[in-house]
Amino acid sequence: MSLNAKLVIELQSIVGKDYVLTECEDLLVYECDAETLDIALPDLVVLPKSTDEVQSVVKLAKQYGVTVTPRGAGTGLSGGATTVSGGISLVLTRMTEIISVDPIDRIAVVEVGATNLSVSHAAAPYGLYFAPDPSSQVASTVGGNIAENAGGPHCLKYGMTTAHVLGLKTVLADGSLVFIGGRTRDNISLDLLGAMVGSEGTLGIVTEAVLRLIPRAQAVETMLAYFPTVESCGQAVSDIVADGIIPAAMEMIDSLTLNAVEDYLHMGLNRDAAALLIIELDGPDVGISVHRSLVESLVNKNRAIGTKWAKDDVERLKIWKARKASFGALGRIRPNGYVLDGVIPRSKLSVAIQKIALIGEKHKIIVANVYHAGDGNLHPCLLYHRDNLEEVERVVRAGREILELCVELGGTLSGEHGIGVEKILEMSLVFNEADMTAMRWLKDSFDPEGLFNPSKILPNPKSCGESGGRKLVRHNLSLSC
Ligand SMILES: Cc1cc2nc3c(=O)[nH]c(=O)nc-3n(C[C@H](O)[C@H](O)[C@H](O)COP(=O)(O)OP(=O)(O)OC[C@H]3O[C@@H](n4cnc5c(N)ncnc54)[C@H](O)[C@@H]3O)c2cc1C
Repeated sequence: MSLNAKLVIELQSIVGKDYVLTECEDLLVYECDAETLDIALPDLVVLPKSTDEVQSVVKLAKQYGVTVTPRGAGTGLSGGATTVSGGISLVLTRMTEIISVDPIDRIAVVEVGATNLSVSHAAAPYGLYFAPDPSSQVASTVGGNIAENAGGPHCLKYGMTTAHVLGLKTVLADGSLVFIGGRTRDNISLDLLGAMVGSEGTLGIVTEAVLRLIPRAQAVETMLAYFPTVESCGQAVSDIVADGIIPAAMEMIDSLTLNAVEDYLHMGLNRDAAALLIIELDGPDVGISVHRSLVESLVNKNRAIGTKWAKDDVERLKIWKARKASFGALGRIRPNGYVLDGVIPRSKLSVAIQKIALIGEKHKIIVANVYHAGDGNLHPCLLYHRDNLEEVERVVRAGREILELCVELGGTLSGEHGIGVEKILEMSLVFNEADMTAMRWLKDSFDPEGLFNPSKILPNPKSCGESGGRKLVRHNLSLSC
């Protein structure tokens, strides 16, 4: 019996026969995440149901020297869950229990396969919710959110996932179980919680999380503001923040995206605008009208060609549905989209927008733009057809130039999607060797044998498109089972 066949039988005895996938057509489902430039099949997919099962799988993997890449819903946009070195894709989507909601201490304890939105649904009867709201929140899991330190439109005011995680039950690379953090704020040890959040599945496998819940605001006001140019829209964003207002969210959509959304949802958006800004204010009833007037005057000062406040929650939900459907709507233009995640200082928004358009023209790539404008997090979406390898090459080159631009403007590579395999070659734009050595020390302390999610975040000699015999589509090389 081959080593793999023996491993499969032992894995089946842990999680059950149905939850170990080995057939090519099953593995294909797990060949990438939502970043489809990097594709690599796992050798096996294993779907555990409990922390005990995760521990047993990790111990077995260690014994056989097989790598383990944790995976949630696979909505990641940096290839984080893609098994670039093969091994086991450990899919945590069967672990969906909301274990408890405590409205007094305002915390929820959840299994990591629970979706982001299911946490807020469970907390809603108590007037509470889980604040990080990635646009993928219907599908993406708490584990994936923690591993990527996910953001979302409302993270401008409320902070990224890291600000809402108190404790993590975590399986380490030797199969042991630790509880990092607590049920309250905890400052008594080395900040391992800080290290785990955003570590992209490279340090440990989280199985349960204690999450902070916050109360819904008393008053919410949501505005749509249309602008004649993207520059005037960008300037309005800068002016609003410079005036000391912290909106709950400030999201910008360019004309291409706006029209794709309108084609999809038919909600009466102004197709003539060059840019649409969604501004949401929230807080106590007292005072919100003052901020509303200030925002109106700043938007008008920047030549808005139309504004509209949502008149009730139904209209507000429609607006957010439109924003959150924007990447999907772009699929009407090209079947594939490469979503970048660069960050720039807010003051450089206008110049960045102009230069990104020039990069798109230079490489003859259609670029749509959706921005978390309030915190300078850009999501240029490069539209392409995956079967057109020449176009793929141009997309990769344009993507690289956009990231270089962000760094030149004083920004960085990622605001919320992480590095994964996608931006591994760009790490040297931001970090020197000493920086990366320090990060490798951290990785080696948690995972000395390199069992968890290999070939991610930190470049190594194998990072140039080939890893463990698998070749990444980004580099125009194909795969077979
Ligand atoms: C349409 C669309 C919109 C999006 N909008 C946003 C947005 O607004 N903001 C944002 O931040 N992101 C956004 N994303 C990206 C993505 O949804 C997030 O990164 C999300 O957090 C990934 O969750 P997931 O469950 O899909 O994780 P996966 O993609 O499965 O995995 C992501 C990473 O987490 C690791 N991981 C998963 N589970 C665990 C675990 N239990 N323990 C340890 N590591 C684990 C994986 O190894 C991988 O490195 C969007 C994606 C799409 C497709």
